[in-house]
Amino acid sequence: MNDLECPECPYCNAIIKLCHEDGQCYAEEKDHELSCGECGKNFIVHTTVSYYYSPRKADCLNGSPHRFTSWQRLWESEQDRMCIDCEHRERRTLPMAPAKTKNLSHKTP
Ligand SMILES: [Zn+2]
Ligand SMILES: [Zn+2]
Repeated sequence: MNDLECPECPYCNAIIKLCHEDGQCYAEEKDHELSCGECGKNFIVHTTVSYYYSPRKADCLNGSPHRFTSWQRLWESEQDRMCIDCEHRERRTLPMAPAKTKNLSHKTP
């Protein structure tokens, strides 16, 4: 599986296959010396980790009510739901349902 983009050789634009199993070039903000298998030139790869921001609206942070998912049953009488905007969690305990008295005898008079 290739989870990282491979760098290109700055001389001939060949794609340099990194051996990810060895953690090659995984170290951040460091210079790594590589040599190109195509043109044989040595070059430096600088690994940078970038962060992506994904803003989304959260009306509940601006005075609107939370937008909750439906109640999810946790166990016995506990339920839990989450606001899909701000991930605020709410929990509730249901009153224990009165045990149903089963009349197992079906004797007809
Ligand atoms: Zn090259
Ligand atoms: Zn919310």
